[in-house]
Amino acid sequence: MPRYDFRCRACGSTFELSRPMAHSADPAVCPQGHDDTVKLLSTVAMTGGSGSPAPRPAGGGGGGCCGGGCCG
Ligand SMILES: [Zn+2]
Repeated sequence: MPRYDFRCRACGSTFELSRPMAHSADPAVCPQGHDDTVKLLSTVAMTGGSGSPAPRPAGGGGGGCCGGGCCG
């Protein structure tokens, strides 16, 4: 089940919810009980697009594995 990040505009906290994709657009209530929340764009599997540079992993030993999709 995919996880979605939400941010509460009432208290400023971020939280994560697991829910079916069919319900990804449903309103989320923050752990503090506020319902003024916004869904954040997931950073998973969003690389490869144009516009933003892909961050390079720190401490990599080279080899060029990451970026090709083999790292998951
Ligand atoms: Zn809140």
